Amino acid sequence: MLDDAGLQALREAARLSPDNLPLRRHLADQLLAKGYLAEAEAEFRAALVLAPKDADVSAGLAEAFVRQSSFGEALAALEPFLGEPGCPPRLGVLAARALLGEGDVAAAAHRYHDAVTRDPSLADPALAARLAAPPQALGGPAPYGGAPSGPAYGGGAYDAPSPATPAAEASAEVERSRFTFADVAGMEAVKEALKVKLLLPIQQPELFAAFGKRAGGGVLLYGPPGAGKTHLARAAAGELGASFVNVGLADILDMYIGSSERNLRATFDLARRNRPCVLFFDEVDALAARRSDMRQAHNRQIVNQFLAELDGVDQDANEGVLVLAATNAPWYIDVAFRRPGRFDQLVFVPPPDASARAAILRILCRDKPIAEMDYDAVARVTEHFVGADLKGVVDRAVEAKLQQSISAGRAIPLATPDLLAAAKSVRPTSVREWMATARNYVLHANDSGAWDELMPWIKAKW
Ligand code: ADP
Repeated sequence: MLDDAGLQALREAARLSPDNLPLRRHLADQLLAKGYLAEAEAEFRAALVLAPKDADVSAGLAEAFVRQSSFGEALAALEPFLGEPGCPPRLGVLAARALLGEGDVAAAAHRYHDAVTRDPSLADPALAARLAAPPQALGGPAPYGGAPSGPAYGGGAYDAPSPATPAAEASAEVERSRFTFADVAGMEAVKEALKVKLLLPIQQPELFAAFGKRAGGGVLLYGPPGAGKTHLARAAAGELGASFVNVGLADILDMYIGSSERNLRATFDLARRNRPCVLFFDEVDALAARRSDMRQAHNRQIVNQFLAELDGVDQDANEGVLVLAATNAPWYIDVAFRRPGRFDQLVFVPPPDASARAAILRILCRDKPIAEMDYDAVARVTEHFVGADLKGVVDRAVEAKLQQSISAGRAIPLATPDLLAAAKSVRPTSVREWMATARNYVLHANDSGAWDELMPWIKAKW
């Protein structure tokens, strides 16, 4: 991948030769690879003007959209190709990711299966697990040990965790969090809920014992991507003085039957060996999806193993292990996870309002050289930006300032106009699309009242 100076040179070259298609495509690819998504999107659009109906350019544009959670726009970019018989499989996988983002799991699974059947090298186990895709779509030859008559295939209703899974090494690592709740701006209600649930039972055990309450049970954090769920979990660990284990899908999901379950067990054991510990599962909807939606027994098996680990072999098994999980799609989660002692508390992590945005910006800038700064002014022009977007704004402003400082030969501090300029070039996460999906679920599938907390948010204008 190019370094920043190389990228800058490429930008300059493209500016001087705006009609040079290979150059613009190369620039767009590099921007995408480096994660400058809004700029990559603009470059792919420009390239598409030069080469309409170019499948590679459309794929690049769609990927830029998907990674910004603009799923509808991604599908629009792919649409001219999807109906064609020779549609490149790569476009099919992108369409699957976009359809999944839109909540159309069945169509996404169909697209994915078709694409991977035609080009097995495109297999993406994490995506496949979210789609509960058929096993042959997950990878190359005989990925499941070639044992279709083994116990996990015993007819689809295999609902007990395997009794003695051999040991595995956990790939997640134990961290010490340097953040506490003081590093989390806004979210007062959320922090309060976590304090009562996680911190007080440990800090004041006598009080809880007097009321016959035990510490335990996990918390499911849900909300739009980038709103700060991971940051909050890490801060909870720091606040407690507990170790922190951050588990991503790649730490657990494995295409070989039985391995994902072993990885789960090893991860819980790692947390148990490091108590007190906050064990955090990101994108938990992939590990805890509704079993009724799953066509494959082995996927249900992962869910069952997860439930078994949450319950523990005895009531002390998870003593001192606080399980937090995050998802952007809480409605896909099997209700069994919401029973007492499991993820029995759902906490909505909302997008920040103006004063929270100002506070987040203040935290993000606090270690940087800054001149006087009007955070409120920046908060006003960043409506609908979530924490991750604001971090993008600050990172971009710092990058620009660094360039200026290098040319000037001295450190020039960041000031309000730098953040205002950077805010213009960052395309925020689509909170609006997330709210639209949430609205569908809250209004049409809220029998249990699980999403009551979301009600005022989805009624607001986005
Ligand atoms: P999520 O897990 O919801 O997708 P993250 O926790 O990864 O979001 O948030 C991305 C980044 O945004 C964090 O690393 C942090 O720097 C910043 N951030 C988000 N919310 C806050 C907040 N309330 N206060 C301070 N920083 C925040």
